[in-house]
Amino acid sequence: MTRLLYRTARATLPVAVGGQGIELIDSEGRRYIDASGGAAVSCLGHQHPDVLAALHAQLDRLAYAHTGFFTSEPAEQLAERLVADAPPGLERVYLVSGGSEAIEAALKMARQYMVETGQPQRRHVIARRQSYHGNTLGALATGGNAGRRAAFQPLLIDTHHIDPCYAYRLREPGESEAAYAARAAQALEDRILDIGPERVMAFVAETVVGATAGAIPPVADYLKRIRAICDRYGVLLILDEVMCGMGRCGTLHACEQDGVSPDLMTIAKGLGGGYQPIGAVLLSGRIFDAFANGSGAFMHGHTYMGHPMAAAAGLAVQDILRRDGLLANVTAMGEILRQRLVERLGDTPHVGDIRGRGLFRAVELVADRTTRAPFDPSLKLHARIKHEAMARGLMVYPAGGTADGTRGDHVLLAPPFIVTPGDIDRIVDRLGDAIDAAL
Ligand code: PLP
Repeated sequence: MTRLLYRTARATLPVAVGGQGIELIDSEGRRYIDASGGAAVSCLGHQHPDVLAALHAQLDRLAYAHTGFFTSEPAEQLAERLVADAPPGLERVYLVSGGSEAIEAALKMARQYMVETGQPQRRHVIARRQSYHGNTLGALATGGNAGRRAAFQPLLIDTHHIDPCYAYRLREPGESEAAYAARAAQALEDRILDIGPERVMAFVAETVVGATAGAIPPVADYLKRIRAICDRYGVLLILDEVMCGMGRCGTLHACEQDGVSPDLMTIAKGLGGGYQPIGAVLLSGRIFDAFANGSGAFMHGHTYMGHPMAAAAGLAVQDILRRDGLLANVTAMGEILRQRLVERLGDTPHVGDIRGRGLFRAVELVADRTTRAPFDPSLKLHARIKHEAMARGLMVYPAGGTADGTRGDHVLLAPPFIVTPGDIDRIVDRLGDAIDAAL
């Protein structure tokens, strides 16, 4: 019997004992293709020798120094690297231990910016339904996954939620993409005006929606319109690229493809590729200056922020990404993955939508393709697919649909950036068989 509380209190789990490239190996010797990178984490695959070498070297030099007293070489170098490649205007880096911590810090930076710039009445956050920003209380309040929030609602700060940009479900029949982009973005302006523009602090969105609804890219122009609305009303734009960023969509930052720079951006997962827990907030020079010229400090901090081992992992992963030209592979393999998914699953009766960017793809399942009605959530189709996939040596990241029809079950694919066409064939074959077996 285990003494661990797993994510589920009912199931048992295989014991992972090893990894090699795109595969994980359990204690029974079974191998699993990590087609989801865990949860879009393992961008270089497992046990990459160059990351391991960098970590060993850092461990021999310095494992830990508290950031209240010292900075460290890997943290400084990583910040330098991240700013060099950041969207325009993002000039400083705040290092934390994961995605939820990054969101918490970004929310507090937005709030402190408003206080420091004489706008203390700005405290309202607007975010989107069908989003996920993490499980700590601030991040959970921001997220729009009603199921995850339900039990904790009394503990959550008020957040306003608007509809996401989710063309498969929310674009009207006959509506052009441009008209839909305008309508979806208008929801933000309407909500800002409802609340009172002088009271709104920030709008938070995943550039490409990840865990809750499955690899939903914004339609063209949506984010540009969002940026313009935020600017019109002095609202800070926080883009959450914890899952979709750091190369996952084929450019280092997903928002590059939308031609938009946020005021604050959260990154994690692919930043360190799972080799150490690490996340970060990239912040604009304007926000940094408000702190530097105002109170002189960002009123925040965690014991492990800027951890040298985590920074060394991030630095090594980011070096390899560039050295090996992996962004180009993400784009090329992402297109092959899309094509293979369409060939294998496009005519499957219950596959409603196949979508995504780069190596960030999802398949949404529906009970009825015409009405797009989701399956009854109590059937737990997503969990059955995960089970069938694991039985076939394949890891995919699933999530359930909702009873009110706002989203269907989906499975998310986010394989390591080193995948080959042959790997993709094996992934799609096994996924197709798992879906057939689960339906
Ligand atoms: N934001 C997004 C978009 C995520 O997908 C996640 C995790 O899946 C988080 C934040 C939270 O990150 P973490 O689990 O590292 O706290």
